[in-house]
Amino acid sequence: MKALRTGVIGVGHLGRFHAQKYQKISQLQGVFDTDFARAEDVAKELGCAAFTSMEELLAQVDAISVVTPTIHHYAATLAAVAKGVHCLVEKPFTYSLAEADDLLLRARENGVLVAVGQIERAQVVMQHLRGLGFASPRYIEAERLAPFKPRSLDVDVIMDLMIHDLDLVMMLCGSRVAEVRAVGVAAVTEQADMANAWVTLGNGSVANLAASRVVREAARRMRIFWPDRYASVDFLLNRLTFYRKGPGAVPGIPGVLEEVVELAPQDALEEEIRSFLAAIAGQGSVLCTGQEGRDALDAALGVGQAVKRFLETSSQSSAKGS
Ligand code: NAD
Repeated sequence: MKALRTGVIGVGHLGRFHAQKYQKISQLQGVFDTDFARAEDVAKELGCAAFTSMEELLAQVDAISVVTPTIHHYAATLAAVAKGVHCLVEKPFTYSLAEADDLLLRARENGVLVAVGQIERAQVVMQHLRGLGFASPRYIEAERLAPFKPRSLDVDVIMDLMIHDLDLVMMLCGSRVAEVRAVGVAAVTEQADMANAWVTLGNGSVANLAASRVVREAARRMRIFWPDRYASVDFLLNRLTFYRKGPGAVPGIPGVLEEVVELAPQDALEEEIRSFLAAIAGQGSVLCTGQEGRDALDAALGVGQAVKRFLETSSQSSAKGS
């Protein structure tokens, strides 16, 4: 992995962290950003080159991260794929499904790897849970609540936050979203800032997902139900709590056994980038494939459409009522 030559396109808030990880575990050649002063700052910090054109950077690397605003993911990834450069594209993969499908096709034609930065797969609680090899849960509840930040406002809260849980739900169930009911509210921006979705998967499992980017206190939790057990997942505390029937002593719930698993924090971004570089070197697989990133986008767009329909109907009914 140390031998791989890498770069980052778009070194704003998150892109700078990508560049730091590449510098640690590969040969970071340089960065490109349409804001050249920003590229120079990051290049100076990490001792690499600040390129004045994306093409110059692409000519010198084996792999890159695309960490521009979502609207530019397609053009940057297309340019990289055309040059035979492997890409880790931040989430959401692209802005539209047509763009995602086109990139997947071109990646296949050019024999390059395209991975998507659905970083919640790299959280230590998810990796632990997956390692247990349980069958598909029947029901999942998730909440992902974040204080307002003036970033990622080119997309709604579904593409910004809920997409993480849609992706995890599909991963845990091994099935894609088949049916969606959703509501949402535009609280601060012009797009939905809070949303609640009820999704049914192809295998019959169900998930209820809540997301908000305008709360005072952050929460990232998931409750996962199987016929014989239940897991409560806290992504912020790196804690998994399992409950199952047995000779336990949970106060107030007779006959239920509780097991708490506290995990050491893990650098999820480094884990994601390590898997990407290892997969290029033929040593394992990426955490989220381009196809899985495309499926997460598809699900998020479906929820977004349901929310838009809700917002339209509720504004029509309030107009009639007034
Ligand atoms: P940001 O605005 O801080 O940074 C974006 C950078 O891209 C800026 O420096 C900008 O100058 C540069 N840029 C814009 N257009 C460009 C282009 N065509 N070519 C090269 N550079 C360009 O945004 P951010 O918060 O770092 O988000 C970037 C991406 O990362 C978004 O797609 C966002 O959805 C994603 N993101 C993912 C997560 C996650 O949990 N995985 C978290 C935050 C952001």
